[in-house]
Amino acid sequence: MAEHDWMKAIRALVGKEYGRVYAWDAVNAPMIRHWCEMMGIANPAYTDAGSPAAAARGGQVAPATMLQVWCLEGLTQNNYPPGSTTENPYEALTLIEAQGYPSVVAVNSDLEFERELHPGERLYYVTRLDSIGEEKTTALGTGFFVTLLLSYFSQRDGSPDEKVGQQLFRVFKFRPAQTSQAAKSASSEPAAAPKIRRPAPGISDDTRFFWDGARQGRLLVQRCKACGTLRHPPGPVCSQCHSFEWDTLQASGLGTVYSFVVMHYPEVPPFEYPNPVALVELDEGTRLVAQLVGAERGQIAIGQRVRVEFATVETSDGGELALPQFRPVTA
Ligand code: ZN
Repeated sequence: MAEHDWMKAIRALVGKEYGRVYAWDAVNAPMIRHWCEMMGIANPAYTDAGSPAAAARGGQVAPATMLQVWCLEGLTQNNYPPGSTTENPYEALTLIEAQGYPSVVAVNSDLEFERELHPGERLYYVTRLDSIGEEKTTALGTGFFVTLLLSYFSQRDGSPDEKVGQQLFRVFKFRPAQTSQAAKSASSEPAAAPKIRRPAPGISDDTRFFWDGARQGRLLVQRCKACGTLRHPPGPVCSQCHSFEWDTLQASGLGTVYSFVVMHYPEVPPFEYPNPVALVELDEGTRLVAQLVGAERGQIAIGQRVRVEFATVETSDGGELALPQFRPVTA
């Protein structure tokens, strides 16, 4: 494909080095312990400073693959510790997105380690925009492979900082396949926000009844024929009695918000934002994840009574889907 004019300025950024992003905390034993617990790793070299395993490594060490963890920004975007760069190391992605390439998928994250890290070390990384590939069309869509190289350093007093590892991070910044054709036939103006449909669910012999029921306006729950236990999500076997025999129960459609989140960012088409998603406990006892509709911001609460309704949406495979959603009901 011929290069877009607007790409020249973005491509000129290749090779640019972005300044330091510091770690909020020094490498520390509590975070190592939490991480190992989460990952299911039981290695005393990581979690027991007094163990022979740790002594053999020159003292307690952090799992090497925690490298990226130490410099993460936390829950708030761009919340970097004081002294960190104010530049956006991902500026190339932002600039490409502005030209009508809204989607992104990470394709490589290759970590390399120079040595193990010990509690007390203070890290930072610097970012280099390594490369931007030619425009390519893949099964996902048309876009650019963008590669960033993050180099991690341990700060040292009185001597040069020591490089302890690096991460090659490559993403594909693209315009989804279904909209490429429409965008191409438009002029050379930046593409308008492309129309993106809902992802189609994978439907199997175990789950087809649920979607068929939804199309008929019925919310069906799988029920074990042997012991009567209800289950959702659907599956081939009863977790209680291991029977493969099942039928379905039509739920009343009434339930209660058991938990919920309100998605604000990132805004992913075709969903509208803020996007409230609830874990609904049906009166029958099973729970399911579904979108909440008709709920004012701030009005959603755990315990809120809700009732199912079915919305027909277009899906990415060109079909239609009846989707259970829940709307608050007042007593
Ligand atoms: Zn059973």
